[in-house]
Amino acid sequence: MPKIHPLDTHVAELIAAGEVVERPASAVKELVENSIDAGAKTVTIEVQNGGMTLLRITDDGCGMERADARTAFLRHATSKIRSKDDLGRIGTLGFRGEALAAIASVSKIDLLTRAEDEPEGVQLHLQGGAVLSEQPAGCPRGTTIMVRELFFNTPARMKFMKSDAAEASAAFSVVQQQALAHPEISFRFIKDGQEQLHTDGRGQALAAIYAVYGRELSRNLIEVDGHWEKLRVRGYVTKPTATRGNRAWQSFFVNGRYIRSRLLSAAVEEAYRNRMMTGRFPACVLHIELPVQAVDVNVHPAKTEVKFLSEREVFDAVHYAVLSALGKDSGRQEMRLPQSRAAEQESAVPAAQQSAAKPVQQNAKPAQADFFRVMQAAEYRRQAAQSGGQNILASPVLLPRSEGAKRRAEEAAPVRSAQLDAAEETAAARIQAHKSAQEQTKESAQSKAATQQPAKQEQPVASAQQTIELPEPDYRIIGEALRTYIIVEQGDELLFIDKHAAHERLRFEQLKKSKQPIMAQLLLTPVSAELSREEATAVLEHTALFGELGFEVEDFGGGDVLLRQIPAELDEQDAKAVMQELAEQLVRGRTLAPQALRDELLHTIACKSAIKAGWKTAPQEIQALVQQVLTREDIQYCPHGRPVCITLSRHQLEKQFKRV
Ligand code: ADP
Ligand code: MG
Repeated sequence: MPKIHPLDTHVAELIAAGEVVERPASAVKELVENSIDAGAKTVTIEVQNGGMTLLRITDDGCGMERADARTAFLRHATSKIRSKDDLGRIGTLGFRGEALAAIASVSKIDLLTRAEDEPEGVQLHLQGGAVLSEQPAGCPRGTTIMVRELFFNTPARMKFMKSDAAEASAAFSVVQQQALAHPEISFRFIKDGQEQLHTDGRGQALAAIYAVYGRELSRNLIEVDGHWEKLRVRGYVTKPTATRGNRAWQSFFVNGRYIRSRLLSAAVEEAYRNRMMTGRFPACVLHIELPVQAVDVNVHPAKTEVKFLSEREVFDAVHYAVLSALGKDSGRQEMRLPQSRAAEQESAVPAAQQSAAKPVQQNAKPAQADFFRVMQAAEYRRQAAQSGGQNILASPVLLPRSEGAKRRAEEAAPVRSAQLDAAEETAAARIQAHKSAQEQTKESAQSKAATQQPAKQEQPVASAQQTIELPEPDYRIIGEALRTYIIVEQGDELLFIDKHAAHERLRFEQLKKSKQPIMAQLLLTPVSAELSREEATAVLEHTALFGELGFEVEDFGGGDVLLRQIPAELDEQDAKAVMQELAEQLVRGRTLAPQALRDELLHTIACKSAIKAGWKTAPQEIQALVQQVLTREDIQYCPHGRPVCITLSRHQLEKQFKRV
């Protein structure tokens, strides 16, 4: 029988210290938190050899009185809480009264501190937790704590330390987090004598972000500011075009405390759904403020995790705050032209602040109805042209610019309507012909409904369209370049619109919003698609979903599937390739929620059926596309997060021509 005995205090302390002080970075975190709790306005952190030989934290906070200085190093000694009730409403970063005791027990410490009202300060020297000397000292208000030879008496722990560089960088990221959490405090981080970070402490969140993450990230930010009852969510998230390969740049602060939280990451990422590629992650700096009673911070020894009373509410508040911020973002990226270094440095911070502080554009909803009619008709025209048919828009009506926007608007609408009605009639006839050729073929009731409904529904829309007065556009289409980019002048900017990305997004939104199954076309000759067995099984398990997407699939044996019907918008020649891509996505997206999976599949259909870069596009299509891009909020990015529109300002141009 092994004999049981209580551990002596010193060993017990070393064990407890292990939980709190895992590495130099954890000591830095505790000490900086103490400085923040002490109301410091400036905090300087110095590390040498990754913090293993020396850590020094200097603050101008409230300091400690002489008698308190010793007490601070006792275990469970704190000035921050008194009773158990206080545990339910913690407003400070520290409260456990463990950090100084823990750090002191595994290092050699020199403390210098003076409280406001004290004529002189006190200097303490400790080793392994024992106070070896105490003497009065003249010093400014505040506290300096020097930690030398961390883990000198715990060689077991020492062995686990990584390289000095790795330890220093861990300490650095702790300081970065604190700097982001507290823009009102000026932080300096000095590594082996070299300054690595210096925040100005003027309280601007963006300035802190700029100091920590630099210019590139700072100019790709969108401001978030949302309320939900007593919850407030503030901060910045990256534009969908500036996402990253991991979550390292996601920072969450709950009542000023940096925390790691899957819940919050999920809430933010959910808001980016359909705005970025899977496998990418937004960066963010988000402050969540809520009543101290609504969050339990006493769930983790290093206090880096918290428990929310109502997780659902917090999730929703963060999700909707980010969603609405993304919705308001114009999504337009400014084109950056190279400039001289000096000029660049000069304009650095203002530029970052400018771009993020730029008033969000409130786009009006489109006055004009169903753009999709236009695009669909265009698609049929393209198909007709490809299959040797005559292009009914062979001589597009180009409107003279000089005649003014108003006239253009008045004239363009009826012209376009008439032409597109014709186009659609042809398209409808084409489908009808297609269908009668298939009369004998098995035809699902679903596809019948799908094929006929849109034609019926669109009649009133079409006549309504002719009477709608278009608002006078505040832009001018200059033309298309490289058969890919539409160039538009608006205010003091040139806009470059990627026609494929724009159209892809439009199609995606329409497919997604439609309650009807996607309009389908029966194939004259069914097409077989070779798939892996796994893919074929997945596809056949989801025939209902594919039905909604306009596909009729059957088992063809040997891992192949047979396509009898495909979405009307797809080209027959693409049917096989699209099916293969969808099958692959299906297998990859098995873990996705049904809605997310459906969206993924819709991305592919939207992409395949959108007009392509390199294709010739009629001026009317371009007009319609531009009108949508400039008036709708939901098409600022393609479904994969590529931008739809890039802007080039007059100022940028003038700089290049050395006019300014
Ligand atoms: P806690 O922060 O959980 O209270 P610590 O062991 O970190 O426990 O610190 C113990 C006490 O020492 C604190 O409650 C605080 O009163 C005092 N203290 C520590 N660091 C500072 C500082 N930099 N400035 C003023 N007081 C400090
Ligand atoms: Mg503390």
